[in-house]
Amino acid sequence: MTDRNQTLFERAQRVIPGGVNSPVRAFRAVGGTPRFIARAQGPYMWDAEGQRYIDYIGSWGPMILGHGHPAVLEAVQKAALEGFSFGAPTEREIELAEAIIALVPSIEQVRLVSSGTEAGMSAIRLARGATGRSKIIKFEGCYHGHADALLVKAGSGLATFGHPTSAGVPAEVVQHTLVLEYNNLAQIEAAFAAHGADIACVMIEPIAGNMNFVRAQVPFVKRIHELCKQHGALFVFDEVMTGFRVALGSAQSVYAKAIPGFAPDISVFGKVIGGGMPLAAFGTTREIMKHLAPLGPVYQAGTLSGNPVATACGLATLKEIAKPGFYEALAAKTQSLVSGLTQAAQAAGIPFCGDSEGGMFGFFFFDSLPQHYNAVMATDKERFNRFFHGMLDRGVYLAPALYEAGFVSAAHTEADIAATVAAAAEAFADLS
Ligand code: PLP
Repeated sequence: MTDRNQTLFERAQRVIPGGVNSPVRAFRAVGGTPRFIARAQGPYMWDAEGQRYIDYIGSWGPMILGHGHPAVLEAVQKAALEGFSFGAPTEREIELAEAIIALVPSIEQVRLVSSGTEAGMSAIRLARGATGRSKIIKFEGCYHGHADALLVKAGSGLATFGHPTSAGVPAEVVQHTLVLEYNNLAQIEAAFAAHGADIACVMIEPIAGNMNFVRAQVPFVKRIHELCKQHGALFVFDEVMTGFRVALGSAQSVYAKAIPGFAPDISVFGKVIGGGMPLAAFGTTREIMKHLAPLGPVYQAGTLSGNPVATACGLATLKEIAKPGFYEALAAKTQSLVSGLTQAAQAAGIPFCGDSEGGMFGFFFFDSLPQHYNAVMATDKERFNRFFHGMLDRGVYLAPALYEAGFVSAAHTEADIAATVAAAAEAFADLS
């Protein structure tokens, strides 16, 4: 069935560890042969054998417009002709910074980098430099990239491999990283009571997409915000996944509606702002940014930071998503996918629940949505894996691990959603 994919996988494994350049792509969690993708267009990807898939990974989030959007392609082609990289400032970097700032009121300045990992790592360094404190708080199941200090109980790929933390990270490096349970108010109260004066920042995935899809509850976010203010710590929203994906103002706009006066101190972006090119950013107030080099003593740099082709791609993407009605349509489509899947599961007598915000969704083989990592971990992995393969065999490409969120793009049509739900009805029937 998958001879060419299998041949490529064997060849890849000889020269690339595990045959992949990012672990989850290897299908270790779900078993089977990874599909080697030859090309993609709109909501579809084709593998090396010419098999077509409806793509709900979207490169793990960036492809909010679908693949090969004409306006984005045009902008990238034009930028490439003008030069790949200069290592000097460009007007386009200003335009992208201005575009991000215009959409996210909590930010006055941004620094552009090349990956979410870099952005998250730099945000932590800035928070520590600005506060003069060492301790950071993160939550179990939240992934903030693979910087050493943040590789503690980090969900998704790490959870899949069963390592609570990575080998190669000395204990001393994470001794200032406190890991608490997501949505656990008592633990965050206790942590601030014990260490309040030493906490530089609290970092959170506001909707945790690295444990599938778990929302930080509004009272939880509100209380962290209060505690940070009270103790002089900074609240860092890691919006690498949720940024411009769940709403035009990102997840912080969703929480700002529910919590009067709410704004994070530092925001971290990636994925959508690069439109599929290596681009990420962290942003905050001028007051905090004044600590960052070359203005202040917190060092941070990058050869390819603000890359001209990547910024062109990001700018063209932001222009499209800012068009009126974009998120309403995206959210409606994503909701119809989740409710279609839920109804199909119910019809097959399978316990199932799902949730979505904007173009991001998740689902569980449970009757009700889990609130934290341990609850997510209780998922019947075997059932998920069979469902994943049932869908893949029917031409639907879901994330190959139960800890990952899914993504719908503007290019997905109602017909794609209907075909996905029809495939799911068959896949669920095979499970029961
Ligand atoms: N933060 C979050 C919430 C993420 O989901 C990811 C990647 O999936 C990262 C940070 C790291 O981003 P990157 O893979 O671009 O380094």
